[in-house]
Amino acid sequence: HSPVHIIGGGLAGSEAAWQIAATGVPVILHEMRGVRGTDAHKTDGLAELVCSNSFRSDDSEHNAVGLIHAEMRASNSLIMRCADANQVPAGGALAVDRDGFSDAVTQAIASHDLIDIVREEVTGLPPAEWDQAIIATGPLTAPSLADAIAKATGSDALAFFDAIAPIVHFESIDMQTAWFQSRYDKPGPGGTGKDYINCPLNESQYNAFVDALIAGDTTEFKEWEGTPYFDGCLPIEVMAERGRETLRHGPMKPMGLTNRHNPHEKPYAVVQLRQDNALGTLYNMVGFQTKLRYGAQAEIFRMIPGLAKAEFARLGGLHRNTYLNSPVLLTPDLQLKGRPGLRFAGQITGCEGYVESAAIGLLAGRFAASDRLGKHKALPPTTTAFGALLNHITGGHIVSDDEKKRSFQPMNVNFGLFPPLEPGALKKPEGHVGRWRGKEKAVAKKKAITDRAKRDLQEWMSGGAVMAAE
Ligand code: FAD
Repeated sequence: HSPVHIIGGGLAGSEAAWQIAATGVPVILHEMRGVRGTDAHKTDGLAELVCSNSFRSDDSEHNAVGLIHAEMRASNSLIMRCADANQVPAGGALAVDRDGFSDAVTQAIASHDLIDIVREEVTGLPPAEWDQAIIATGPLTAPSLADAIAKATGSDALAFFDAIAPIVHFESIDMQTAWFQSRYDKPGPGGTGKDYINCPLNESQYNAFVDALIAGDTTEFKEWEGTPYFDGCLPIEVMAERGRETLRHGPMKPMGLTNRHNPHEKPYAVVQLRQDNALGTLYNMVGFQTKLRYGAQAEIFRMIPGLAKAEFARLGGLHRNTYLNSPVLLTPDLQLKGRPGLRFAGQITGCEGYVESAAIGLLAGRFAASDRLGKHKALPPTTTAFGALLNHITGGHIVSDDEKKRSFQPMNVNFGLFPPLEPGALKKPEGHVGRWRGKEKAVAKKKAITDRAKRDLQEWMSGGAVMAAE
């Protein structure tokens, strides 16, 4: 077989390469890092995580991202295999040692007989002789390729802002003031219930901190004015501006935490840090993505009790994040309309997050492989997390082109993307006495959606699914 070309060796491109090679089809993976960097990546490693080291919840019964983890594990996912092998404790979440994870992906791809990595920047749309190609160049697609894509797709490319949170050296955190505890002492996979570092603020410290954030010197991006923020990743100072209490109800909420050094004084607000590497020498500030200038960041974050002497391994920053208006531009199996054989995958398609990007890479890879092999391919049912996310991206649920244009926003996978349960599918558990409370019902509903997804995924895989040789 002639190769499938993949542009971009990030989360999506690496997963796509792995899936294609597993079917016996060769892959040429073009990755520019090593020759040209991006504003957010720090290394030449494949699948580098640019900000948080978390793959979010690993609960496949009650959480949509946990469900997509399970679907990927069932589909021979390289990204999940390397994440599982490089876990660090993180409460109910799956978090990884970022270097260990990226090294494992790089090693698996580089040593695969059917995959060639070419370190080069691809500066335009793939040439016609690359008859099967996947563009997985991510939110920080290099400018010349981004221009070529914009030209080919009209003015349909969209953008938003994404910000990065700082990372602190553990040895510079004052553990006489801060303490280890997961919220509500909840142990996660491999965790102990003491997975986060917590820094307490009293009311006056909190108010002074909010004032400093609002007054802080921020980076200005004149040319980006009018570009919106992604709501799930607002800079901390933008949240502070929205109201004095916003942070206390957001990333600085004190619920489920007791100050080990002073159990009788309830903290007014808490800053949490999550382990960032297996050694436990680095911790990232949870929810503290920021566009404050570097000098202002260090000064303001050192106001937090426990971080007075904090040394930063990396400071936060803001990046423009480009994505396509996929519901208008892409076919249901991720090909650019009018250019069969050219697919898009990852964040550039308008999904949001490491896991989602890798999942769309997995699907794009399988679709490309089955086209190359001339095999029948069936889309994953929309009742699965794969299918629900794919359907959101390709606009399967939206009727008119006008509507597609208006409503398309980058999206994490969530239960709102799944079709409703069939009538009568939700039943009160046998032996349950008394009133079935709203909260119990909500939990049961999530479980019923994930049970249905697992059943339908099985059917898809044993039936018409594009199967990799596993
Ligand atoms: P990437 O992982 O970025 O991979 C794209 C690859 O393509 C890169 O290796 C790049 O070097 C390469 N490339 C680009 N242009 C070219 C070219 N012309 N030729 C050859 N190679 C090229 N998601 C989360 O889940 N958690 C977070 O905390 C988080 N923080 C983010 C912070 C920022 C600032 C940004 C921009 C995004 C963040 N995301 C986060 C969103 C997203 O999940 C990640 O960006 C994710 O890495 C996307 O995967 P991808 O494979 O689509 O792109």
